Amino acid sequence: MKNQVIPNEIVEIVEKLEKAGFEAFLVGGCTRDLLLGKTPKDWDITTNATPEEIIPLFDKTFYENSYGTVGVVNETTDDERLKIVEVTPYRLESFYSDHRHPDEVRFSKSIEDDLKRRDFTINAIAVSLSNGAIKDIVDLFGGLKDIKDKTVRAVGDADERFKEDALRMIRAVRLATELGFTINIDTNKAILSDSKLLKEISIERIRDEFVKILMSKSPKLGIEMLDSLNLLVYISPELLAAKGVEQNQAHAYDVWEHLLRTVQHSADKGWPLEIRLSALFHDISKPETKRFSRETSKITFYGHEVVGSRVTKKILERLKFPTKTIEKVTSMVRWHMFFSDTETITLSAVRRMIANVGRENIWDLMNIRICDRIGTGRPKENPYRLRKYQAMVEEAMVDPVSVGMLKIDGKGIMDVTHVTPGPKIGFILNALLEEVLENPKLNTKEYLENRAMELIILPDAKLKELGKQGVIVKSKAENENIEEIRKKYHVS
Ligand code: ATP
Ligand code: MG
Repeated sequence: MKNQVIPNEIVEIVEKLEKAGFEAFLVGGCTRDLLLGKTPKDWDITTNATPEEIIPLFDKTFYENSYGTVGVVNETTDDERLKIVEVTPYRLESFYSDHRHPDEVRFSKSIEDDLKRRDFTINAIAVSLSNGAIKDIVDLFGGLKDIKDKTVRAVGDADERFKEDALRMIRAVRLATELGFTINIDTNKAILSDSKLLKEISIERIRDEFVKILMSKSPKLGIEMLDSLNLLVYISPELLAAKGVEQNQAHAYDVWEHLLRTVQHSADKGWPLEIRLSALFHDISKPETKRFSRETSKITFYGHEVVGSRVTKKILERLKFPTKTIEKVTSMVRWHMFFSDTETITLSAVRRMIANVGRENIWDLMNIRICDRIGTGRPKENPYRLRKYQAMVEEAMVDPVSVGMLKIDGKGIMDVTHVTPGPKIGFILNALLEEVLENPKLNTKEYLENRAMELIILPDAKLKELGKQGVIVKSKAENENIEEIRKKYHVS
């Protein structure tokens, strides 16, 4: 192979092992990527040395897992992928009585054993190095041919391999999606018959592979593949309910196709995970909120963003995403309808929106809105209208949109009203923010102090109401619909 870039740090580790009389190969994803002419994401080295034999060869290592992997630490590099390089003894795995963990991990002296236990032929190629370039290729299962044919094929008997570790089924889809490969027909068949084994797999492992599918260049294809292999139901069955849910004239597609096109556009734009998740789930509750209005002869989905944000929260909690991700995505889903009320938008509505989603999230919300529009089948966002929104957001961003931006704080309120600390202070601050959102000119110390003195005599319940007033401004009909839906789904 010419022109490949195998970093010196990697070459040195391999050479050290060989000089000490051991075998050492690059293996797994990095070998696959090298042979594809891609830059590997990380580097894995496999050797016939045991952990006890590997450790003394290097200045700094750490060793704490039960799989025998030794992390060789490199403190002098800036490249994240080289800071810790994993060196793993050849392994041989035996029974998997629970479809996910080998009952014991044993080391082996032969590279063949190590390659045999790997998931797919394209991941089961080992290469040795000489002068920093590939020397020999150990390809015992036809991995090179499968790379050439762009095929993901299980090593050995697919059905057996999925019964050993059911996660491999999702890994097959993940690899096919990332690489633009297809899944071999026997491997496909085995997935269809074994898909239910995914129930045994920890949700964190499933989530990590799912995230890789979302972060790939073609999440739409990946999700369609998960669906056709009967795997999506173990990740988010909620998505399946969107299939065949027709929408009104403005939409060219059913909800399922719309969600997939929206997430695909977010990938085309290279947006981060939170935006991709928001794009995927933004209309998740359209199926259960769908109504037909006799008066207007139109299909409506009133309240779908309210129910949808709850449902999204449940999904992301089940998938054990970090709290920060969950909060951001549910908030994006909750407010995604905002930029669709086109002509009527006012600056105070924009300020309320910023108050709701937070200043740091407003541009992401707008980007989701653009993905949503493209996902609807419209060619592109009307540039004039988009610029108008952007200008309004920028204008509103200078105005106070949070309690912290008011020209009075809790202490200020206590000084003028002489009340003692307590929840009332918070209610008053929120009520004041409401007024300032409506009219930013009111954000002066003098006005707010006077107003605080007027508000202090109101009962708590009234103050709370004032503070919440503007958060959701909706028509009566829409609110009634939301109430009904909330009751039905037991959400508040
Ligand atoms: P990436 O480029 O995304 O890192 P990868 O193929 O390197 O992809 P890893 O999860 O880093 O994926 O795994 C490294 C290697 O370990 C794989 O190439 C494969 O040989 C082996 N492997 C990983 N997971 C499994 C599994 N569940 N069963 C069998 N072999 C596995
Ligand atoms: Mg890897």
